[in-house]
Amino acid sequence: MTSVYQDLIPEKRVLVLINPFGGQAKAKSIFEEKVKPVLEAAKCKLDIQYTEHRYHALEIAKGLDIGSYDTIVTVSGDGLIHEVINGFLQRPDAREALQKVALGLIPAGTSNSLSISMSGEKLGFDPIHNALQIIKGRPLALDLCSVTYEDSRYFSFLSQSFGIAAYADLGTEHMRWMGDNRTVVGLMQEIFSKSTYQMEASLLIAESDKEKIKQNYKSGLKSSEWKSPAVGDGAVLDTIPPLSDPVPENWTTINGDVSIFLASNVPLLNRGMLSHPCVSANDGYIDLMLVRGGKGIGKQLSMFTSVDTGKHLDMDLVEYYKVKAFRLKPIIKPGKSAYVAIDGEHASAKQFQVEVHQALGSVLSL
Ligand code: ADP
Ligand code: MG
Repeated sequence: MTSVYQDLIPEKRVLVLINPFGGQAKAKSIFEEKVKPVLEAAKCKLDIQYTEHRYHALEIAKGLDIGSYDTIVTVSGDGLIHEVINGFLQRPDAREALQKVALGLIPAGTSNSLSISMSGEKLGFDPIHNALQIIKGRPLALDLCSVTYEDSRYFSFLSQSFGIAAYADLGTEHMRWMGDNRTVVGLMQEIFSKSTYQMEASLLIAESDKEKIKQNYKSGLKSSEWKSPAVGDGAVLDTIPPLSDPVPENWTTINGDVSIFLASNVPLLNRGMLSHPCVSANDGYIDLMLVRGGKGIGKQLSMFTSVDTGKHLDMDLVEYYKVKAFRLKPIIKPGKSAYVAIDGEHASAKQFQVEVHQALGSVLSL
């Protein structure tokens, strides 16, 4: 029976992208059984598409008729979100597409950092909460980063990492059977083998005082942080000098051994890992956590025991910066691999640079 009030509810046009192989291949049943009935009851008009191959979601976003949809929902992990954002950003009307069609999230992947960061670990995986975000959520503006190599450029919404955290993500693929515990094992391996990674990095620092950062920035992606997505038309250009130019004089250069270089746009990069407690969704800064090399096994271990509460920030060995941009060149040591992870995925270990674009993206949030 249809309610007499049905006609008063505005119809929301939703494109749903489901990765049938994301996470433990539960995306289809999560959506069909738990989310779809709620969206239909709220009179959403659903177009459902299953992704058939890598970059399929990117192609769909790139070619989308943005006049036909109010929101694009990914039922998957961070990988599909990365693709949708990059598909939009390859369009000549990139800014308009990102503003008009906000993202909706149904987490069903191996890593679901944005969803966990927005809603917490409990609500982040509650299908009803996630369905309500799509129905009633307002667009929360998100900072996005451009990542530029000598021969390619794309966008990152989560993280850029070099050193042992990147190894833990990428170098442990052969331990997939352990689920996400493999990253913990990877970190332990690296700490006990006293691994350090050499780099040359230059940072455009906005704030380097940890106390000031802690006072001025709230923890988490809070709904009080609404901000209109970046206005303007067309493509998104970088404002920093190209890689082929020297870095400007007001950038700070750090050369040497590091164990962790971890830049993030979300506070929680993993379950129980509040690595970047001072992130704001759209403050226009990248939060960078840096641990230099040679800090000792004991200290590094105690850092990982306090990262669940964000208290690692108080430790002397942890440096924390708000930056607008950075450039990083891995120096590969003989007999060792270097790892760069962008949004948790393998990226080239060549020189690259990153610039934040304030409030460029938007995601539906309660
Ligand atoms: P997970 O968090 O489990 O890795 P993601 O949603 O991040 O899940 O997706 C992982 C990758 O799967 C993405 O890079 C995406 O392009 C790819 N993908 C999407 N659909 C398919 C498909 N039908 N077959 C194979 N890979 C796919
Ligand atoms: Mg930020």
